[in-house]
Amino acid sequence: MKIDSILLRELRIPLVRPFRTSFGVTTDRRILLVEVRAEGLSGWGECTAGEHPYFSEETIDTAWQVLLTELVPALAAAEVKHGGNCPGIFKQVRGHRMAKAALENAVWDLEAQMRGVSLASLLGGTRQVISCGVSIGIQPSVGQLLDQVEIELAAGYQRIKLKCRPGLDVELFEPVRNRWPGIMLSCDANSAYRLRDADHIAKFDDFNMLMVEQPLWADDFYFHSLLQKRMATPICLDESIRNRRDALAAIEMESCRIINIKLGRVGGFSEAIAVHNAAQERGIPVWCGGMLESGIG
Ligand code: MG
Repeated sequence: MKIDSILLRELRIPLVRPFRTSFGVTTDRRILLVEVRAEGLSGWGECTAGEHPYFSEETIDTAWQVLLTELVPALAAAEVKHGGNCPGIFKQVRGHRMAKAALENAVWDLEAQMRGVSLASLLGGTRQVISCGVSIGIQPSVGQLLDQVEIELAAGYQRIKLKCRPGLDVELFEPVRNRWPGIMLSCDANSAYRLRDADHIAKFDDFNMLMVEQPLWADDFYFHSLLQKRMATPICLDESIRNRRDALAAIEMESCRIINIKLGRVGGFSEAIAVHNAAQERGIPVWCGGMLESGIG
């Protein structure tokens, strides 16, 4: 494909509801959109880096910087045929995976349009409809949490994930599980616990959850493997999984029984597919999230 231009735009989007996690509260988002134009078509990608380096080392400001000085010039100068070429084009730049993913995903979108197929089928997808879960931030009260779960279930979400942190966990899970005994329920601690909390976390087994996501440190495999031995509920690693090698290490160490990848954290569709395939071959289910806030992304 002959790339004519690459445009970066920033939007500011207020969230419908504030999103509270163990990191803090988010009320609006700065969204960096990437448009890659080639041969009369436009491919779009969205950078999911946040305003602060809390969930990831990257921020929207570091993404702007590395896109303008490194990634956009590299892509503009490269011979690009396929979205899967992008990791090789960007390989000299260490890290900055959310910035890379925004550009790479735009190239995949462009490629799908050029081939006249959907992005899903270009990526190897076979289903027409997929199940979708929702993540519910920490609410000001249990009553508001129950109201929110009710709204999301009525909207059709198939899995409810509750954000939690030390001091705000079983007291949230219990009323939700009592009211909806049959729903697919999980929780996400965003690495807020320590191994000394293991006895307490093991009590999450009482709530018949699909998984407990990233209870310990964001860069850890070993201590999660110790925790997993002490509980029946599968641990899901999310923040620890940056690429296929991380997934293989986590699986080999039995640090988790489920993997949740984010397109931005793994650097785009190419690595997401590699993680998915490696995990599937070893019988480990994978959830894939986008963290995309705009309808365009
Ligand atoms: Mg998570």
